[in-house]
Amino acid sequence: MTDECCLICCAPLVPESCYQCMGAGGFHDCGEDTCCCLDPDEITNICEVCEGEGEYLSCSALPHTDAQMAAYQETHREV
Ligand SMILES: [Zn+2]
Ligand SMILES: [Zn+2]
Ligand SMILES: [Zn+2]
Repeated sequence: MTDECCLICCAPLVPESCYQCMGAGGFHDCGEDTCCCLDPDEITNICEVCEGEGEYLSCSALPHTDAQMAAYQETHREV
């Protein structure tokens, strides 16, 4: 375990099940309308939200306040 903390509010990060792939780490997407793959459950598209992990670290103190977001953006404005 690494004791990473939120970049915005420094609260501990907690593992959150990925909202996009529902924790599966990706999707089966072979591009066929009628899939006849041997293993339709095989993941062919890695989820880009969690990068195949099925979960990602999320701040335990959500939601952030506008003041916290403003302070964060203040220090990360080189975009
Ligand atoms: Zn936070
Ligand atoms: Zn398929
Ligand atoms: Zn995911």
